[in-house]
Amino acid sequence: MQGASKTLPEAGILLGMRTLSSVKQHTALAKHAEALCLQEGMAMTPLRREVYELLLAHDRPVGAYDLLEELKAKRPKAAPVTVYRALDFLLELGVVHKVHALNAFAACRGMETAHRGLVLICRTCRTSVELEDHKVDNTIKRSAAAHGFETSDEPIEVLGMCSLCRA
Ligand SMILES: [Zn+2]
Ligand SMILES: [Zn+2]
Repeated sequence: MQGASKTLPEAGILLGMRTLSSVKQHTALAKHAEALCLQEGMAMTPLRREVYELLLAHDRPVGAYDLLEELKAKRPKAAPVTVYRALDFLLELGVVHKVHALNAFAACRGMETAHRGLVLICRTCRTSVELEDHKVDNTIKRSAAAHGFETSDEPIEVLGMCSLCRA
């Protein structure tokens, strides 16, 4: 089909495709996070790195208490505040997104700074997929601005059902 390839970019770019070597991808994302820290003059402490790596290891958003349980395997004394502080740092740095619909957190799979993700969330299996879609973002921004409304840079969350659950 000739027209098919032309319609692809319209659909937004899928970030964090599982077809990529995930080890390679994780290493690249971790390096990107370190570089961002240097650039911002912030410190990626071992604890912050551990929390980030736990999130990278999941292909779906994780709740803070689940993260805490995982962190306790290495740091038995970890408390909720330990996790929340590390998450706040990672959110601020822009390498983690909060997925409000699931009250959970996901490592950002994109490397563009100051981007706004579009997250597709499956209600059934809680999987989320992050897309980079500037068209949607710009449309929302424009419509909101017409009402004097300034949008935040938090990801746009779209709820529904993923292809696996629909099958
Ligand atoms: Zn992102
Ligand atoms: Zn699903």
